[in-house]
Amino acid sequence: MEFTQSDKLTGVCYDVRGPVLDQATKLEAAGQRILKLNIGNPAPFGFHAPPAVLEAVVNGLAEAQGYSDSKGLLSARTAAVRYANGKGITGIDPDGVYLGNGVSELIMMSLQALLNDGDEVLLPAPDYPLWTAVVSLCGGRPVHYLCDEPAGWMPDLDDMAGRITTRTRAIVVINPNNPTGAVYDREILEGIVELARQHNLMIFSDEIYDRILYDDAEHISTAALAPDVVCVTFNGLSKAYRLAGFRSGWMVLSGPRTHASSYVEGLNILANMRLCANVPGQFAMRAALEDDSGAGDLVLPGGRLHEQRDVVWKLLNDIPGVSCVKPKGALYAFPRLDPDVYPVTDDERLVLDLLLAEKIMVVQGTGFNWPRPDHFRIVTLPDVDDLTDAVGRISRFLTAYAQG
Ligand code: PLP
Repeated sequence: MEFTQSDKLTGVCYDVRGPVLDQATKLEAAGQRILKLNIGNPAPFGFHAPPAVLEAVVNGLAEAQGYSDSKGLLSARTAAVRYANGKGITGIDPDGVYLGNGVSELIMMSLQALLNDGDEVLLPAPDYPLWTAVVSLCGGRPVHYLCDEPAGWMPDLDDMAGRITTRTRAIVVINPNNPTGAVYDREILEGIVELARQHNLMIFSDEIYDRILYDDAEHISTAALAPDVVCVTFNGLSKAYRLAGFRSGWMVLSGPRTHASSYVEGLNILANMRLCANVPGQFAMRAALEDDSGAGDLVLPGGRLHEQRDVVWKLLNDIPGVSCVKPKGALYAFPRLDPDVYPVTDDERLVLDLLLAEKIMVVQGTGFNWPRPDHFRIVTLPDVDDLTDAVGRISRFLTAYAQG
């Protein structure tokens, strides 16, 4: 008898680790060196956590042998409340904070607790594709609102408003955005909050890159503008604290919880069912949030992340027919390929051909639910020499592609 995958997985995809990575892994097994620019995992590129955070985990190990409370250690949840208060989110307490095995697990829990079959969730295009995948897995219908590239990838509020129906339950905001690097301004966030208010929608605000900001970018938490809207704000240690392997994330519920008591009961059931998040990772949280430096000097002029972002952005824009909005935050660039120069019809094929020809792995734009095959995403984590080499190879590949 054939064992087939569940129908629930129909249409669920996650191309950050998809078929192109499978091909890259095969090439590596055959002895080739592949520069993998597909995933925002800082540690393998030489970024390490603040020593005080590692120390807190080591010191906590003996105590971390058992399960914790299902929502997580009170000390960590209290630190999350303090952090959220510092960002202007009010009316919250540790009871409304849930720790998870990364933000990833919390995305699953938060949507699973809300969605019935056919419920719609508004998601950005492009998005971090886990959000779309989980909405589908929960039986919901992902509905994408466009982000406007010429406007610095800000969400198009008219497009968003036009997609709201009687089935819409929530709006997902990813700010700073993966893959575009956009950091949303107050006016845009106020517009989103107003739509949620008018149509009685929840807001899920994924702010995992809130401390990876460049230039004059200021991060505003959506929930800080929405004390009267039920919001869930997500954050974690994988990026600014370079601790992706610890699987340490949290989410904070805010707004009128009396309107959400059944939802909260659902969340509590799901939190109980998975017992708790990885406890050593929870010990990292308080130390990280109290250390308060986040990505520190790395994002300031002269810092590695800042310099690498500049180099990638400049070199990509130097390629004829390629344009890239300057990322204001996060760890990625999302360049556009002019369709008149590069008439791509299948961008997965394009990145696969790039991998085979140049041993560089990036992710196709449609993997982020961008509707046209004219973008790709590259991470800005490798050092300047590797990035210069990588973009040089991409340029060589594209030149050959344009010549047919
Ligand atoms: N949200 C966004 C926008 C991300 O880019 C990522 C990882 O790349 C995650 C969530 C998942 O992070 P975690 O490692 O906390 O599961």
